Amino acid sequence: MYTGDRDTEVIFLKKLWRGEMVVCPKCKNGNLIHLHKKAKKSNNDWKCPQCGEIYRTITMLQELPND
Ligand SMILES: [Zn+2]
Repeated sequence: MYTGDRDTEVIFLKKLWRGEMVVCPKCKNGNLIHLHKKAKKSNNDWKCPQCGEIYRTITMLQELPND
């Protein structure tokens, strides 16, 4: 996970999926952008233009710990 706990991680993912501006939780310097510029609706990958971290939201969702 990139954030401190499961709830925060879910909020982070939901913001990305809604298309909101989300600050990179790793470097806290950049707003995440779509990894693929010609994004279709199926694009679920984002990246940070500042530190280069790549966020694959489907993978992140699958790796969330169960309570
Ligand atoms: Zn970053």
